[in-house]
Amino acid sequence: MKSEIFEKYEIIDAHAHIFPEKIAEKATANVGKFYDLHMDGCGMSENLIKGGDTIGVSEYLVCSTATVPQQVRTINSFIAEECGKHQQFFGFGTTHPLSEDIEGDIAQIKELGLHGVKLHPDFQDFDADSSEAFRIYEIIEGELPLLIHCGDPRYDRSAPARIRKICENFPKLKLQAAHIGGYCRWDEAQEMITGFENLRIDICSSLAFMSAEKAAERIREFGVENSFFACDFPMWNHKEELDRFLSLGFTEEENRMILAENFRRFYK
Ligand SMILES: [Zn+2]
Repeated sequence: MKSEIFEKYEIIDAHAHIFPEKIAEKATANVGKFYDLHMDGCGMSENLIKGGDTIGVSEYLVCSTATVPQQVRTINSFIAEECGKHQQFFGFGTTHPLSEDIEGDIAQIKELGLHGVKLHPDFQDFDADSSEAFRIYEIIEGELPLLIHCGDPRYDRSAPARIRKICENFPKLKLQAAHIGGYCRWDEAQEMITGFENLRIDICSSLAFMSAEKAAERIREFGVENSFFACDFPMWNHKEELDRFLSLGFTEEENRMILAENFRRFYK
């Protein structure tokens, strides 16, 4: 049965992880352990769509990162394959700062028809502003957008101050800073990385950790027009995340922007 929300808003999920069936269970458990969170669904495409269907998601930005350089090409092929099977997927590939052939990885991403690059400094174990990582940004600036995990209270690799250096050094790089710019480091994120022209944020894995007032204030600080709704599958339940978002008190027009329009304008 269609809910009112379905009819009122188009919804794009701007940040979702998918894993090959063989490793989905283990990969999902590992992510859960890493963030000390209970994981609801096993991270396969079918489960993502099942979750998204409960709120009428029309499109998903899907990605997966490589913890070691040797996995990069396989992961990129996997993401492209899933995009072939599911037309509602908008796929991002990955690379690794220690990859011996970053140019080749990026060429593969383009050949496969993927739309951007996902990096996770904490999982992939590199500093977001290291010279190795800068090589990646140099290659993709003006070519492919970057979705980067931001912030962790336990590590410094993706700290907002490092993300700021990316913005300063690569002004033409289209950057989606995940988790309102810094998971559990939101004050720092607000201070460090607001106000860059090509910077957008997604709001996943954040709303459960703060009051509605605080979340709305932070999103406004980055700009309603610069924010994307996302659920960080398999971390969160789509229905619960949407409910959290709708309780932030944005106007209908603002909801429409954050739920789909901003994403479309930035990537299409
Ligand atoms: Zn992610």
